[in-house]
Amino acid sequence: MSQILDGKKVAQKLKDELKIEIENIKSKFNRVPGLAVVQVGNVAASSVYVKAKTKAAKEVGINVFDHHLEETTDQNDLINLISQLNSNGDVDGILVQLPLPKTINEEAVLNCIIPEKDADGFHPLNVGKLSISNKNDENLMIPCTPYGCLMLLRELGIDLAGKNAVVIGRSNIVGKPMAQLLLKESCTVTTVHSKTVDIESICKKADILIAAIGKPEFINKDWVKEGAIIIDVGINRVKINEEKSKLVGDVLFSDVENKVSAISPVPGGVGPMTIACLLRNTTISCKNKLSIN
Ligand code: NAP
Repeated sequence: MSQILDGKKVAQKLKDELKIEIENIKSKFNRVPGLAVVQVGNVAASSVYVKAKTKAAKEVGINVFDHHLEETTDQNDLINLISQLNSNGDVDGILVQLPLPKTINEEAVLNCIIPEKDADGFHPLNVGKLSISNKNDENLMIPCTPYGCLMLLRELGIDLAGKNAVVIGRSNIVGKPMAQLLLKESCTVTTVHSKTVDIESICKKADILIAAIGKPEFINKDWVKEGAIIIDVGINRVKINEEKSKLVGDVLFSDVENKVSAISPVPGGVGPMTIACLLRNTTISCKNKLSIN
């Protein structure tokens, strides 16, 4: 039987720790971390994510500044809002929910967020710091999803050094920072992608396999080594019938479950960790500003 990496439980543990940390900040400095959440338009999935992030932030005591803008918002107006949030002393983290409407250049907007308030950890300076820092990660703004994956791995209590880790996917938000984090843990890291030749045999050698592809149940037991640890980042909505749908990962859970030593489920694995790590980044930003770190 494999161990199920319960993201809800680990995320709750992190949120409980953050809550205490925020209470301490409040009692010493008479302020709490602030998170500005910016959504443009009404993409249904974005509204679900924004609602979940806002609720979780409030639960741990973070102040939320909600900015829900019209679909037709002009790029300059959005950039002006970001500039105001950059200079607002009550705001420690700025989250711009993606995707933005097609009329807006996402990169231009994200690059306007000052690195100190980059709650998602996507700013080039934070990406660079993650890449060159060999120290511990206590005051770094690290992309939330890969850091959440690392926290799930740490939960296993095993020594990650020397493990053969394979990351499937090379996106800026998941695959690349995931590979950096595993390298910092002294894993031997291979990143594979859509142009990789003989991907299956590379994955089959992995002690740790991180799947971040975006293809429903793509990875089956023929891709995984006996006893491997699997982190499934994928979130894919598939139809069950005309009326109903469900969320599945990139891994065919039922097929690999009995072959691996540990696996994160979808839903309930990486998803809750991503939200908790956003709250962590916001708290880190506040602590950095107050010189607590
Ligand atoms: P993305 O930007 O679309 O990147 C997908 C990556 O997978 C690309 O690097 C692509 O390779 C690679 N890929 C695609 N097809 C492949 C194949 N057949 N074989 C090998 N590699 C292949 O996606 P993403 O933003 O990284 O997200 C990946 C998945 O994670 C999605 O399901 C997304 O919904 C989910 N996600 C979940 C969370 C969470 O909180 N749980 C957060 C973020 C994302 P190329 O570079 O060669 O195109």
